[in-house]
Amino acid sequence: MINSEVRMKELSLLFLMCAAVSNTLAVHPEKDNKEEEAQLVQDYLNKYYVVEPDPNQRGWKINAESTAEKLKKMQQFFGLKVTGKPDTETLEIMKKPRCGVPDVGLYGFTLPGWKKNKLTYRIVNHTPDMSKEDVDKAIQKAFKVWSTVTRLIFIRIHEGIADIMIAFGTKAHGHCPRYFDGPLGVLAHAFPPGNGFGGDVHFDEDEDWTTGSAGFNLFLVAAHEFGHALGLSHSNDRRALMFPNYAYISPSEFPLSSDDISGIQSIYDKRPTTPTSPSTCGHSQMSFDAITTLRREVIFLKGRHLWRVYPDNSAVERELISTFWPTLPRGIEAVYENTKDQILFFKGNKFWVISGYQVLLGYPKNINTLGFPKGVKKIDAAVCNKNTGKTDFFTGDKYWRFDENSQSMEKGYPRQTVDDFPGISQKVDAVFQQKGLFYFFHGSKQWEFDPTAKKVIREIKSNSWFNC
Ligand SMILES: [Zn+2]
Ligand SMILES: [Zn+2]
Repeated sequence: MINSEVRMKELSLLFLMCAAVSNTLAVHPEKDNKEEEAQLVQDYLNKYYVVEPDPNQRGWKINAESTAEKLKKMQQFFGLKVTGKPDTETLEIMKKPRCGVPDVGLYGFTLPGWKKNKLTYRIVNHTPDMSKEDVDKAIQKAFKVWSTVTRLIFIRIHEGIADIMIAFGTKAHGHCPRYFDGPLGVLAHAFPPGNGFGGDVHFDEDEDWTTGSAGFNLFLVAAHEFGHALGLSHSNDRRALMFPNYAYISPSEFPLSSDDISGIQSIYDKRPTTPTSPSTCGHSQMSFDAITTLRREVIFLKGRHLWRVYPDNSAVERELISTFWPTLPRGIEAVYENTKDQILFFKGNKFWVISGYQVLLGYPKNINTLGFPKGVKKIDAAVCNKNTGKTDFFTGDKYWRFDENSQSMEKGYPRQTVDDFPGISQKVDAVFQQKGLFYFFHGSKQWEFDPTAKKVIREIKSNSWFNC
């Protein structure tokens, strides 16, 4: 059974490889073969064997490995003879259609997965190669591959931002930091769990997408890419769905190998989601250290725990802060989400910047670098007004205003909080913005504040977000 499956994959790969070779020869019949090969090797290694710069991070160190070193890594990955030279076997592998996600670097290890079991997906556009119904079915079936071996649930939405945004595009597409290369070569790519492009999956529209064995089978490629969207990296096991090269297998066969299953189950165990801690609801005196939005969620921090609240959903999950961000200290005092989908955490005179699950390099930094004078020893609470791009930092009974666009502190601050936020006369423990309104916390109390009308709308209990 396994043998015939492997042979089938190899046959189809051989066929695709021949197609790729004859195609290249037809386009450049006069070109020197050696020169073309050298170019192929360079392009391939640059695409898949260089640590990718993190688009959210500046000053990434340039990877200075030599071509031979990268070649050795590639040969090792594919189980070839490790020579460091582009021999025939190596060149053959390089000509095969494959996934655009690199085999090393940021994606070279299993990443932290999504910290929830229910994930949304949205099919942003459809390929004209197939009927809409067939595309929808292929996508749905590809998600089912992963949901049968985990407790993950995938919910399709038709508008707004989903965790997994699925789109077809060619060459430079949308704002995607990666490019497609026309027919063959790269078929699709995906981003690991996280903000922004995190979890998103793009298919090269220059490929011929099908439901069968001709062209490229959308279901198989989608199932592979969803593996990345869930946090898996490439496997060097040729029988694995997460092997980087395309291989057709009959859709009647379940495409996961034991390698894929152990991989996904190392991220998404049979771990039950922690229900709302009863103490959160039982405690009418509940207070919080810091609160922020994180895309569509609201994150409440207290001590070494955090609660993730989905305002349009009844699910509340309690986790240890360290399971998300192991390098952060406990007892965070202030946190906010800026206009670039980054989260800034504050404790004492230090702050950390987080994008997705990554603490950016170079942090913690001193809050002086944001423009606070030396006398400011800590921040009690912070909130970025997404409508104005200004962030307010609360310390004691005063607040400072920071311009996110110019990255500078505004003149004339600090000011008395109560002067500009009538009704907020006590020290602010935590504050966040939701649907244009600010929510201020002090002890077990919470005030809903309209920043445009500059007035408190109502006073509520601090645990009102927990569906108690
Ligand atoms: Zn891949
Ligand atoms: Zn893309």
